[in-house]
Amino acid sequence: MSRQSVPDNIAVKVLAANRHTCCICRESGKHVQLHHIDGNPSNNVPQNLAVVCLDHHSRVTGDEGLGRRFTPQEVREYKLEWERICAQPSVAADDDEEEDDEADEPLVSVHQSRLIWAKDEYAYTFDMEAQQELVCSISADDYVDISICTARDYRKWLDGEELMQYEGEEDVRECELPTFVAPRDGKYVVAIMNDNDEGVDVTVDLSMWAPSEDEEEND
Ligand SMILES: [Zn+2]
Repeated sequence: MSRQSVPDNIAVKVLAANRHTCCICRESGKHVQLHHIDGNPSNNVPQNLAVVCLDHHSRVTGDEGLGRRFTPQEVREYKLEWERICAQPSVAADDDEEEDDEADEPLVSVHQSRLIWAKDEYAYTFDMEAQQELVCSISADDYVDISICTARDYRKWLDGEELMQYEGEEDVRECELPTFVAPRDGKYVVAIMNDNDEGVDVTVDLSMWAPSEDEEEND
């Protein structure tokens, strides 16, 4: 995996800037890799790293053999365009004229079912401002662990360090975590870990909300 050759702080930055999602197909929930756009594996500047799913990785590297591969320029375009979209505040699909009751709608919501492979994990990244809230529930067809932590601590955990988490449950099949309130601006992840010897189907319901009214003006 290219994960090892890219310094952690850069990997976190690039993955978060792309919502851990392939910049070409933009399908959330797929496994992704960091691709060196110019083909030079030691050029680890963020501008040279594109987040691509495994399908698209074989198409950008040409390993697949068939069909025309993506050129570095194309990949760069996809990356820039996707990062531009990711940087914008997420809007619910129907952003018509509903400005008055915005408090009833989450800022971001994710409802998704996915397979997490044996001994693997998956993380959903949220770019949160201080006091924004994250509501998170999952159901799974076998026991998994779930954690809310910073993107940085998640990377450290991937590297073998103890996980510093804000909220978490171990060995659950149905779980609703206590509402997480971001202590400061930053990237946070909801990570689901499958320690089983087989893949587990997990359905997540994640939503990010504006700060609760009464906590808004604290500092
Ligand atoms: Zn893709």
